[in-house]
Amino acid sequence: KMANETLKAQLGNSAWHLLHTVLARFPEEPSASEKSTLKQFVHLFAQVYPCGDCARHFQKLLKKYPPQVGSRKTAAIWGCHIHNKVNERLNKDEYDCTKILEDYDCGCGDDEKKTDF
Ligand code: FAD
Repeated sequence: KMANETLKAQLGNSAWHLLHTVLARFPEEPSASEKSTLKQFVHLFAQVYPCGDCARHFQKLLKKYPPQVGSRKTAAIWGCHIHNKVNERLNKDEYDCTKILEDYDCGCGDDEKKTDF
C-alpha cells in the first residue's frame, strides 16, 4: 500500500484534473439551468470530497470565492484562482491562469454541442 501522502496527492491531482476539465468545457453562453447545475456540482464536489480536512477548507474557500458560472471563461478562471488559493496554503507555486482553456483539452472535440445539462 502506498503512503497516505502519496494517495492524497494522487486523489488531489485527479480531482483537480476533472474539475478544470469540466470548467473548460462548460458552455460559452450557459443557460440559467446550466449555471445552476455547475454551481450545484461545485458545492456537491466540495461536500463529497473524501479528504475531510481538504473538504472543510475548500468549503470555506467557496464561501469567500463562490463559483463564477457566467461563462466558460469566467468559470475556468475562477477554478484556476481557487486552485491557486489551495496551492498557496500548501506552499506550492502559483499557476499561470492565462491559458487555462487550452491547458485542459478533454479530447472530446465537437461533443460539447450535444451536451445536455
Ligand atoms: P495539484 O495541485 O494536484 O495540481 C495538478 C496539476 O494541475 C499540476 O501539476 C499543474 O499542472 C496543474 N495546476 C496547478 N495549479 C493549477 C491551477 N491553479 N489551475 C489549473 N491547473 C493547475 N491537499 C492537502 O494536503 N491539504 C488540503 O487541504 C487540500 N485541499 C484540497 C482541496 C481540493 C478541492 C482538492 C481537489 C485537493 C486538495 N488537496 C489538499 C490536494 C492538493 O491540492 C494537491 O492536489 C496535491 O497536493 C497534489 O499536488 P500536485 O503538486 O500534484 O498538484
